[in-house]
Amino acid sequence: MIDACANKELLTLKQALKLILDVSNTTLGFERVNIKNARNRVLYEPIHSAIDVPSFRNSSMDGYALHHSYTEGDKPSVVGTSWAGRPFLGDIKVNECIRIFTGAFVPDQCDRVIMQENAQQDKGQLKISAPPLPHENIRNIASDTHKNQRLLNQGKRLKTADLGLLASCGIMEAPVFKRLTVGFFSTGDELIPLGTAANIGQIYDSNRYTLHALLEEAGAIAIDMGVIKDEPEAVEKALLSASTSCDVIITSGGVSVGEADFITPTLAKIGRVDAWKVAIKPGKPLVFGKVNNALFFGLPGNPVSVMITFQQIVLPSLQKLMGQHVQQQAMHLHAICEEEIKKQPGRMEFQRGIATNKNGQLTVRTTGDQSSHRLNSMSDANCLIVLQQADGNIAEGQTVNIQLLENTL
Ligand code: AMP
Ligand code: MG
Repeated sequence: MIDACANKELLTLKQALKLILDVSNTTLGFERVNIKNARNRVLYEPIHSAIDVPSFRNSSMDGYALHHSYTEGDKPSVVGTSWAGRPFLGDIKVNECIRIFTGAFVPDQCDRVIMQENAQQDKGQLKISAPPLPHENIRNIASDTHKNQRLLNQGKRLKTADLGLLASCGIMEAPVFKRLTVGFFSTGDELIPLGTAANIGQIYDSNRYTLHALLEEAGAIAIDMGVIKDEPEAVEKALLSASTSCDVIITSGGVSVGEADFITPTLAKIGRVDAWKVAIKPGKPLVFGKVNNALFFGLPGNPVSVMITFQQIVLPSLQKLMGQHVQQQAMHLHAICEEEIKKQPGRMEFQRGIATNKNGQLTVRTTGDQSSHRLNSMSDANCLIVLQQADGNIAEGQTVNIQLLENTL
């Protein structure tokens, strides 16, 4: 049996990430997709606008557009209406104005719009109670986007606002990287599928459900490849077969040094292994490597360890493989501890926490027992409390860093 950690130095999370990201280079081609289907896809090329937006001067208010000769005290005549989508194209002369609505074309002769609340029509004439300044309430040509402006950079993961931005410029399709195919397995003779009754010693396989959702959220094609028995032949067969159809393979379980842990020796036989001890908790030895052309991540089996190692280690690699410019480190906020937190120096810890806004001050408490088999500790959490390697116990009232989980985990 290979000891995954024998003669391996203890790596910090940063060191492990650097080693992994250095070999996580995208080889994906590109395709054009309708922007309706482009959310969370990564741009293959920058996108420029072919038009100015807005392409015509328009009103930002319901009101009246005044001739540019307007001076305070005038009572201009109302000579027409400019509706959104139905522009007023007639002539407007000195001491005239038109009724106008939000988004409607502002004729060239007009240089300001008075909001309707500040004006009153009386027998076809406009009485103005608060005179508008020149240019007031007019949205100028290109005040949102200039023709030829670079809208979005290559490597950007498209978010909802980006799709709206593209649509506003009349762009129907986006060139994006093809999707990354990630196959994942659970390993373990104790695992049974949902829908069956558990005998003593058996547990339901939860890791395939969390991994599936994590991969979908990441924007990958997630392929559930089932459960591998704790037998070297089964592991070998499964990994070789997955390597022909997947860009990345992820397993959970079987990476410790027990009698039933076959991931590392099998990987060593059929591919390349980098196994390290990464100084994080939760998170046991991490196995990283390659089977044929597929990158391989062997995650620990404990359900919380799977989620945390995925988020901290696998996700940055997948993002780079998907062509995404790897984001800056997750944003950390400061929160005051509501209770003492137990910690021994030596590993970086990601404790599951509940952050609360108390009169503008963020405070945080843990979700209780932090054992890595307790999925309740993840389910209850809305943040991770990030404790540094050298940190010891944290006293009540001390400030800690937290990382909000939002919807991702
Ligand atoms: P291992 O890393 O294989 O030694 O597993 C560590 C712990 O995680 C054991 O208690 C396993 O039963 C548990 N475990 C492994 N795989 C899964 C899974 N897919 N779902 C839930 N628990 C698991
Ligand atoms: Mg196991």
